[in-house]
Amino acid sequence: MTAAPTNDIEFRSVIKRYGSVTAVSDINLAVPKGAFVALLGPSGCGKTTCLRMIGGFEQPSEGTVLIDGHEMNGVPPYRRPVNMVFQHYALFPHFDVEQNVAYGLKQARPKLAAAEISARARQALEMVRLGGFEKRRIHEMSGGQQQRVALARAIVNKPSVLLLDEPLAALDKKLRTAMQIELQTLQRELGITFVLVTHDQEEALSMSDMVCVMNAGRIVQMAKPQEIYDRPADLFVADFVGKTNRIAATVEAGGATLRLSNGMALAVPGKTGLKPGPATVALRPEAIELVRQSAGSGQLIGTVTHRIFLGSTAEYQISVDGLGDFLVTADRRSVQESDLVEPGERVALTFDPGKVHVFPA
Ligand code: ATP
Repeated sequence: MTAAPTNDIEFRSVIKRYGSVTAVSDINLAVPKGAFVALLGPSGCGKTTCLRMIGGFEQPSEGTVLIDGHEMNGVPPYRRPVNMVFQHYALFPHFDVEQNVAYGLKQARPKLAAAEISARARQALEMVRLGGFEKRRIHEMSGGQQQRVALARAIVNKPSVLLLDEPLAALDKKLRTAMQIELQTLQRELGITFVLVTHDQEEALSMSDMVCVMNAGRIVQMAKPQEIYDRPADLFVADFVGKTNRIAATVEAGGATLRLSNGMALAVPGKTGLKPGPATVALRPEAIELVRQSAGSGQLIGTVTHRIFLGSTAEYQISVDGLGDFLVTADRRSVQESDLVEPGERVALTFDPGKVHVFPA
């Protein structure tokens, strides 16, 4: 006997071509059972194509897609233990809420009894907190409620994998944040695998337990959200997930000192494996502190050009001498009103050298 597979979804050397366009090139991926995974990347990087290959709406040109240990190549969507929720929910406007949710169950073979169908539809509606809305018409529901009806419809036949293609993109920001929390809760309650496609990094980081960052048809990094943010695999990830200041530099012989392009030397003793040669240094805006200062040596000095008040944080744009524009974020909890620096002020930028990321140029 073979052990039950621990991965719900697996891609083995998957390639997808559309004519001369390679949408997905040689992807290997393993999604553990019950995980919430986000496929994150810029428009056109191949996220939706991956999702559609899991759902069976597209077939790989090469390689194998497995679900629960079974090869899925050639298996049509309705034979897969998978359901999909789309950005445009595609509900039936002439049906009421319960009829929309029950639709998939009515097609089930062998046929289910009407009482069973109704009970399961109502249970799915309870799960998405729409109990009591069974007889409402779709046009009488708000955007957020319609999205929940679509979710109920997708979970009613108890799939083992739920695919979500930008499901919250049509909602306003406040509702989107509320639905992000609800989706996360729903996934925990159901205990099934969720694969979410999004180009919104905040959404990917806040909802999923694994983020798979894609670029140009490839996976660049797959890791927990915090690891993606704190230890980006390359400059693309550092730029795409969160904001980043870039500084051109050279790693000096020995690998423990960086020579920034303005001539300043920066000791980075804790960094191992730095190869001497041209590099790009990436530094998060919140890793920098501003100190009022008009001059200094061995420090980055600049002039505040803009201050953007964002409520809980303030963002500064600083023109750093010899290096150009920097972005600095100050958490308002640690900054007194009197400490807020003003546009025109000269400041020193201080940071822990351990917080810089160094990538070969
Ligand atoms: P978005 O966020 O804009 O939806 P995406 O990351 O989901 O983008 P895909 O939709 O997977 O990207 O597309 C990947 C690449 O494949 C793109 O270059 C796209 O133009 C191309 N592509 C996708 N579907 C087809 C198709 N049916 N025929 C031809 N090319 C396609």
